[in-house]
Amino acid sequence: MFQAFLIKYAEIAIKGKNRPIFEDALVKQIRRALKKVDGSFHVYKTQGRINIECQPGYDYNGAVEALTKVFGITAVCPVVVLEDEGFEDLKEKVTAYMGETYPDRNITFKVHARRARKNYPIESMEINRLMGEALLQAYPEMHVDVKTPQVMLEIEIREKIYVYSESIPGAGGMPSGTGGKAMLLLSGGIDSPVAGYMIAKRGVSLNAVYFHAPPYTSERAKQKVVDLARIVGDYAGEIYLHVINFTEIQKYIYECCPHEELTIIMRRYMMRIAEKIALEQNCLALVTGESIGQVASQTMQSLLCTNEVCEELPVFRPLIGFDKQEIVEISKHIDAYDTSILPFEDCCTIWVAKHPVTKPSAKVIRKHEERLKEKIDEMTERALTEREVIKI
Ligand code: ATP
Ligand code: MG
Repeated sequence: MFQAFLIKYAEIAIKGKNRPIFEDALVKQIRRALKKVDGSFHVYKTQGRINIECQPGYDYNGAVEALTKVFGITAVCPVVVLEDEGFEDLKEKVTAYMGETYPDRNITFKVHARRARKNYPIESMEINRLMGEALLQAYPEMHVDVKTPQVMLEIEIREKIYVYSESIPGAGGMPSGTGGKAMLLLSGGIDSPVAGYMIAKRGVSLNAVYFHAPPYTSERAKQKVVDLARIVGDYAGEIYLHVINFTEIQKYIYECCPHEELTIIMRRYMMRIAEKIALEQNCLALVTGESIGQVASQTMQSLLCTNEVCEELPVFRPLIGFDKQEIVEISKHIDAYDTSILPFEDCCTIWVAKHPVTKPSAKVIRKHEERLKEKIDEMTERALTEREVIKI
């Protein structure tokens, strides 16, 4: 029944001179999202808004699902497109539309007509009145409420006539790519995909890095991370996932350093390597899924300790003040949860000590890291050059 969508956006509309940049980015992301949907779509800007025209036979549910994942959209309005065949015909068709859309009829409504084509013979106010009358006659259960109607029936007269009243909530945020790029440390857990989603929501595009420890972590564990990157990518746009073989470095740390400091030292090397790749890829920040106190490596002291190794880039931790339950809710909302809880081993959990330090001293950690100085640089170099890059 719907041959078009009208896309509404709020925040980006206030960006003054930057507005066209934001709109173009939004159009680009809409096109990207619709590529995965069955059907043929024409996306274009007109007069401060974005329209999508759909060829008959397209996958409506698929299109709505894809569009509601595009950041920058506040609402997706499915539109009925009518040829102008006179006002009597329009009244009939709009009446049929309202009957189908609100089968229980128990609504208050207001008609809001706009005559973008000025040679249309009836003025907007008159259209409102006549159409309202026709609807009340057809459906006596409906009522007009001009102040706070439940349903705002929009009728836009252009070359064709566009009718819509439904507004499906969008993902909000800013269009991907308008806010620079960040490097997400993506593990197979619940938190990091959510962290990526939250940063992407602000218009930041993402690259990701995953530390893999074969044969201790399996191909399936890696596949899970690829799947999570794809889920985040449905929102964030294209992601390059850098897979680092971390086994050698992990083992070396295990051999040389106190076991209760293993996790924290490992996390410091993850950050160092992630920062190197981030700088090389022109990223402006690192992103992790850390939250204060969640595990030993995320106490305030541990965070201080992992944070200090990043020399140039800020580390964004969008979940820092969230409880696990709040994170789980977002994870479910973005459809990542079922993938995140698949029980595959994580490289951090393999050699983990029974009693990891919870209040590491950076000074002590630095001293112990000196024991790695013989081989760690060459190992890091090797891990970087031998990395696998997967385009998501
Ligand atoms: P998550 O649910 O995201 O795995 P977590 O609660 O398991 O987080 P940690 O394992 O301590 O916590 O990891 C903290 C953060 O470090 C993660 O959110 C992620 O950003 C990063 N991280 C941890 N392990 C890896 C890994 N193998 N590859 C890439 N990043 C990782
Ligand atoms: Mg984890």
